Amino acid sequence: MRQQLFKSEKLAAVEQMGAAISHEIRNPLTVSKGFVQLLEEESIHPDKQKEYLSLIREGLDSAEQVIQDYLTFSKPTIDSMEELNVEQELNQIITILIPTANQHSVLISGQFSPSAYVSGDRQKFRQCMLNVIKNGIESMPHGGKLSISVNQDNNLVTIEIKDTGIGMTKEQINRLGEPYYSTKGAKGTGLGMMVAFSVIRAMNGTVQITSELKKGTAFTIQFPCTYSG
Ligand code: ADP
Ligand code: MG
Repeated sequence: MRQQLFKSEKLAAVEQMGAAISHEIRNPLTVSKGFVQLLEEESIHPDKQKEYLSLIREGLDSAEQVIQDYLTFSKPTIDSMEELNVEQELNQIITILIPTANQHSVLISGQFSPSAYVSGDRQKFRQCMLNVIKNGIESMPHGGKLSISVNQDNNLVTIEIKDTGIGMTKEQINRLGEPYYSTKGAKGTGLGMMVAFSVIRAMNGTVQITSELKKGTAFTIQFPCTYSG
């Protein structure tokens, strides 16, 4: 009975999340579609045409960003708990983000303890790490270094993700994780940190942030270490 209740609660959460996401994606798509219709119907001045096209692109970009912050690894399954090799998972994420890093002239370096394992849902863990690392890269529009380190001691796995980017004020740090909080204008969703924090919480982890304006930011994320082999 308890078990069943638990399952239906999880399904409800999945459905709710699905509704929220489809709303986030549908809005910009509807806007884009509207401008496509305008382009089809009228003979429009080339200036207007350009403007509509750029609005269409903005809508498509923003739908794409929601998918990247929310759904990159998601499959419609209930969470599964697995032992995750942190180094392997992070290497996957780094591979995915290399094109973005290159675009920003960002060099990624990693220093991993190869036997660090954490327990959690693989897709969620990847989404969480992707969102944090991607923010680090995006904080360095003129290039820089992103260093990732993994250490294990005292039954804790510590993942540090450090950038040499624009940094944040105390006020900004306090707002992290608030849904739709973004300083990136049309280029941001403000969903990445919310997703990352909720995954960290679900995995019994903690996160600490230190940041200095124009110097950079470090995210220190700790999880209970479940296994070492
Ligand atoms: P988005 O990236 O779409 O703006 P997020 O939820 O991922 O949304 O991040 C929210 C905000 O937190 C960002 O807009 C940015 O202002 C700030 N932020 C997050 N990570 C960093 C970082 N490494 N360096 C500087 N600012 C950051
Ligand atoms: Mg982000």
